[in-house]
Amino acid sequence: MTKRKPLVAIIGRPNVGKSTLFNRIIGTRKAIVEKIPGVTRDRNYGPATYRDRHLILVDTGGFEPQAEHPIMEGVRRQTETAIDEADIIIFLMDGKEGLTEVDKEIAHMLRKTEKKVFYVVNKIDNRKAEENISDFYTLGIEKLYLISAEHGININELLDDIYPLLPETLQEEIDQYPRIAIVGKPNVGKSTLVNKLAGKERLLISPEPGTTRDAIDTTITYYKKKYIFIDTAGIRRKSRVERGIESYSVFRALKSIDRCDIAILLVDAMESITAQDLKILKYIEEAGKGTIICFNKWDIVPKDEKTLDQYKDWIINRYPHLSHIPMLFISALTGKRVSRIFEEIEKVRAEQLKRISTGELNSFVRAIQTTLPSATYRGKPLKIYYATQAHVNPPEFVMFVNYPEAVDERIRKYILNSIRARWGFRGVPVRIFFRKK
Ligand code: GDP
Ligand code: GDP
Repeated sequence: MTKRKPLVAIIGRPNVGKSTLFNRIIGTRKAIVEKIPGVTRDRNYGPATYRDRHLILVDTGGFEPQAEHPIMEGVRRQTETAIDEADIIIFLMDGKEGLTEVDKEIAHMLRKTEKKVFYVVNKIDNRKAEENISDFYTLGIEKLYLISAEHGININELLDDIYPLLPETLQEEIDQYPRIAIVGKPNVGKSTLVNKLAGKERLLISPEPGTTRDAIDTTITYYKKKYIFIDTAGIRRKSRVERGIESYSVFRALKSIDRCDIAILLVDAMESITAQDLKILKYIEEAGKGTIICFNKWDIVPKDEKTLDQYKDWIINRYPHLSHIPMLFISALTGKRVSRIFEEIEKVRAEQLKRISTGELNSFVRAIQTTLPSATYRGKPLKIYYATQAHVNPPEFVMFVNYPEAVDERIRKYILNSIRARWGFRGVPVRIFFRKK
């Protein structure tokens, strides 16, 4: 059950920076634009997420001058609406222009509401601008937030105080979000990728170290779905000690893999898959996790239109055991194909959770029985009677046979390949066990 997302309205005179603040908070997400007759600017609604909590932000828009005191009239309407409809109000003022009569009027109206109001002075772009704000204190406000919407100053301070007022995301809900680890050698572009993914929604980024909590993972929303990217703080933070010390980065990668559902192995396309990458892939497989390989820095690979297919063929020829793993060719720097990562995650997730019915499995068993490489135990041919899928995530199949001793690597591979040929399980390790019936 999800609780309703609170409505947070930004109000204030025209030109104080409401839409600038709105855009800064929602990032490049698409706002829902509501056309209202008689307003000069549309009213924007947009979903936003701060850390792991959600809200709907409303930029109350502009209004057409009318009546004798046009601005006052518009502001009054806007303020009343906000008091009626919003759960939380951000009252924005202009620190460059100073406190105005209209601001005082709005503040007066707000005093009557029980709703939580944040009083914010915008356009405090530097220290010098702070010198001119003493007037605002005459409003008798307990806490004034001094921000610059345009330059992104102190926005987090404001949002940190709004955060406790937002409903908690339920743990069960969080548990359902796919957990993604990004791993790979130093300098392949992990932190560039994390920044690109999170940059689209910059406020999802966990706070700077030292400011709060242990939020080292980042929740990222893509088309309304949420994904937890593991240890993003660790990926970004690059202490001098850590830089270049591969063993340390491997250690961190293994820890992230243990906590993830799907690991994204990032590889420098110019360098291709290294021995260390193969070890990491093996670890991911043994841990039973999903895998996606992203060849990064594709922007600097000299290419013609055939390059991508040739590159892929070359990799699969060289490492046939990786042929079931989804491979993407991206540029974390330019963002090219980066959003495809989410599409692949969704596909791998579905494969991890896929369950094959016993009926389907048994028709599969009958079919492969005739094509199975011959295998015997003490002169008697191996026979598979039936099979069942004992687990999902990772998928695990149990084959009931007459002689488990007769099963060798060839047989196992043949069955694995046949399972993959029929059901895919792309990017997911498949386990097969043989039991005596
Ligand atoms: P609204 O009418 O309240 O939505 O105001 P806008 O967001 O359209 O901003 C009005 C003007 O103020 C624009 O020219 C913005 O670029 C500018 N502005 C917004 N925030 C800041 C800021 O933090 N510092 C400065 N110097 N200008 C800002
Ligand atoms: P990390 O050590 O894996 O986190 O790698 P970084 O993200 O710090 O990237 C290492 C270097 O590679 C930086 O100079 C990045 O700018 C550069 N880089 C990352 N991704 C790309 C990309 O897609 N294309 C190009 N040309 N350079 C990239």
